[in-house]
Amino acid sequence: MLVAHHILDKEGTLMPYRWPVDTEFTRIELAVEEQWCRTCGGALTICDHRHHRVFTLTGPLHLVCKLAHCPTRACPAHPQTLSPAAETAIAMPWWVLGWDVVCWLGQRRFARHWSVGQIRAELADMYQIRLSADAIETYIHRYQQMLAARRQAPGQLAAAYADVEAVRLAIDGLQPEKGHETLYVVRELERKRVWFAEPLLSSATTEVQQLLVQARVWAERLGKRVRLWMSDKQDAFVRGIAAEFPEVPHRYCANHCLRDVAKPVLEADSHAKVKMRRTVRGLRAIEREVLAAQHDPDAPPFPAVQAEESRCPQAQAEAGARDVVLDYCAAVRGILNDDQGGPLHPPGLRMAEALGEVQASLHRNLAAKKGGLLTTDSRS
Ligand SMILES: [Zn+2]
Repeated sequence: MLVAHHILDKEGTLMPYRWPVDTEFTRIELAVEEQWCRTCGGALTICDHRHHRVFTLTGPLHLVCKLAHCPTRACPAHPQTLSPAAETAIAMPWWVLGWDVVCWLGQRRFARHWSVGQIRAELADMYQIRLSADAIETYIHRYQQMLAARRQAPGQLAAAYADVEAVRLAIDGLQPEKGHETLYVVRELERKRVWFAEPLLSSATTEVQQLLVQARVWAERLGKRVRLWMSDKQDAFVRGIAAEFPEVPHRYCANHCLRDVAKPVLEADSHAKVKMRRTVRGLRAIEREVLAAQHDPDAPPFPAVQAEESRCPQAQAEAGARDVVLDYCAAVRGILNDDQGGPLHPPGLRMAEALGEVQASLHRNLAAKKGGLLTTDSRS
């Protein structure tokens, strides 16, 4: 595998990591898998070593990558340096986190709605991985890029569509903010997958046409017939689909139709949502307080918890209480960020229902506490 050194250098200056001097690494030596030059067939020789230190969930690793090249000066492959492919199974060459840590934090962020601060504290406590909030955000971004790439991987797609006879496609433009470029998204409705998305500066037919061509290429590569197209039927879609998929019916999206009819209701709903978000605030402050108490045992409102005392029932109950508070914060953040729901079940109504459930749960907990039950058991 070829490694572009300028990328390494660039990332190296972007993301330096200073390892504490007493870090204990497990040393692993990796060699280039092939032994012979692919161009001239001569034996490859080791020309350099790259030292790559990474965090994994099972402890820090020191990867010693033996770089190889073709020693024959006349061979066109001579200037190329080869790197062990096995390294990328553990971590990308310039990353400080192994794949297991990257997956761990992506799952905590997106499936459990943990805040960056919470992820940071848990990494430090459970795995002795100490990172800045910026570094964690960078890796969350990389996790998203990797996930997007995997969702588009031809092998993954072929497996997902193995038992689908024909696909149904939809195209829509989303404008994240007024005045910004529109993100055009092509989705497949049979498997409910986003196939791909492109930001386009205009909705001109020629630009949209590119996306429709791409959709056709994808369907052909999968070997699936396109049964139906759905859209809000703006001109560029109508013309483009007719040109690219002449035999395929193009239906008006029922959701768009309904949404147009329900516009006044949705406007009121959106107002209500803004009001609820304005009322339910201060999650970060609460989390910061709890996380600070976890790290600074003397900080109020949680009294001192020393390491050797950490098994005493009081300390355990306090740690449990802190987890309950963090879980509530995560649940509420999930509710406030949830924008799902169409005209028949507007997002604001869903938000009000969910916040009502949280409130009821808090009341149950408070009532149980008055009755003398342990808070950790009354989580619901
Ligand atoms: Zn060679």
